[in-house]
Amino acid sequence: MNAHEAPAHLALSVAIAVAFSTLAPAGPVIATPGPSSPQEDPVHYVRYDHAGTVSYGILEGDTLHRLDRNFLDSARRTGDTVPLGDVKLLAPVTPSKVIAVGLNYRSHLGDREPAAYPGLFTKLPTSIIGPEDEILLTADAGNVHYEGELVIVIGKEARDVPEERAGEYVFGVTAGNDVSERDWQRDDLQWFRAKGADTFGPLGPAVVTGLNYDDLLVQTRLNGEVRQSQSSADLVFGVHAIVSYVSRYVTLLPGDVIYTGTPGSTAAMQPGDVVEVEVQGVGILRNRVARR
Ligand code: MG
Repeated sequence: MNAHEAPAHLALSVAIAVAFSTLAPAGPVIATPGPSSPQEDPVHYVRYDHAGTVSYGILEGDTLHRLDRNFLDSARRTGDTVPLGDVKLLAPVTPSKVIAVGLNYRSHLGDREPAAYPGLFTKLPTSIIGPEDEILLTADAGNVHYEGELVIVIGKEARDVPEERAGEYVFGVTAGNDVSERDWQRDDLQWFRAKGADTFGPLGPAVVTGLNYDDLLVQTRLNGEVRQSQSSADLVFGVHAIVSYVSRYVTLLPGDVIYTGTPGSTAAMQPGDVVEVEVQGVGILRNRVARR
């Protein structure tokens, strides 16, 4: 652990403890991929490194309950627990595909008209980093913006899913930062490096089930100052419309993620900056920016 991570970890612990303070205890069988309905109590699933061993768990308050396998695969509690402060949280899933929707809030469109269908692009699985990992800028990256977003996590294989059944394929949601180098985005043939570069996909801290993901506040703070703040109720294309649309063209697999778009305006980050994306009910995704 780097020296600077210790206080950040503590702050994360406090933030998560606050976010989870209303949690009810879950039953012994905790994960069946399927509908994430607001009738369920929220459950916070994480992936973590404890003394060099990577595990999946359920976070309740500041205690992690270790699972016997990936929470996407009907996992059960092992009975082992570990304090949150003793682990390094990792990105909660390891997706085969990282898909993103662009221009999906009217507040981000400026004077552009909303599209007739979702504007999709991809990031790369190797862009994914976890909470407290560093966003690393190469020497030629001079205009790198944050984009705080609600992120969909797929629970089961989805192909040609109608919108009215799309909820069955959503395991839960998490927070993401669709880090974007604007000059590359403008000048390159595709957004391959602008959106897909290593560390440009912060994700986490938890995948949460049981939330009404059609109305969650998404906030981005840069060095503690609120820069973006809007509800997912204002998405041009909502979660179910996005899952249905994407599944017409590519097969979605368990653990795949879809960044749903960013609200409002964005700005460049500098080395040393700390960026936080908070999704209501999910927790805070915090990352520091550094030079590679
Ligand atoms: Mg985006």
